[in-house]
Amino acid sequence: MLHLLPKLPYSFDALEPYIDARTMEIHHGKHHQAYIDKLNKALEKYPKLQNKSAEELLKNLDLIPEDIRTAVRNHGGGHVNHSFFWQILKKGVEPSGEILKAINKKFKGFDAFKEEFSSKAVGLFGSGWCWLVLNEKGELEIITTPNQDSPISQNKIPVLGIDVWEHAFYLKYQNRKQEYIDAFWNVVNWKKVNDNFLKAKK
Ligand code: MN
Repeated sequence: MLHLLPKLPYSFDALEPYIDARTMEIHHGKHHQAYIDKLNKALEKYPKLQNKSAEELLKNLDLIPEDIRTAVRNHGGGHVNHSFFWQILKKGVEPSGEILKAINKKFKGFDAFKEEFSSKAVGLFGSGWCWLVLNEKGELEIITTPNQDSPISQNKIPVLGIDVWEHAFYLKYQNRKQEYIDAFWNVVNWKKVNDNFLKAKK
């Protein structure tokens, strides 16, 4: 079974002006596609692994043959992280529901949460992601991962995440990473994030 590029659940320009159409087009069609192509390539030698979902592969990286482990980590991670990211983006959805309650409780209010998340995202050196996850203890936690490492390889379930690779923002924001992160808050699909949270808690 080949891994395939999932369709975006909206048009390229749906997140304008916060995330521009050209960035979305290249990010989805070129970057995400490249992770998928390289994941498929890495799995060519191991037909048994081709039947597993990319999430399953990432959950048990130590079971992946050593010669393709780094490729699965990077490109499988790239595939899963981007598939997740597209889903949690939408304009005009206010935070609500159980996730809002849980954030308020854990972070001393929504603004304090946003501030901590933003500052971890902007402070991430090099390429990577900033996440709100449900950790092993069933608690909300903000973490960053380098490169395309997925929280699920650390037994953490992503609820919300931001891609802070330069390819995610450079066309529009160049070196103004903080501006990209500030804009990101306008395109978080809190309905989907709440669904992720409820599913993670089960
Ligand atoms: Mn990306």
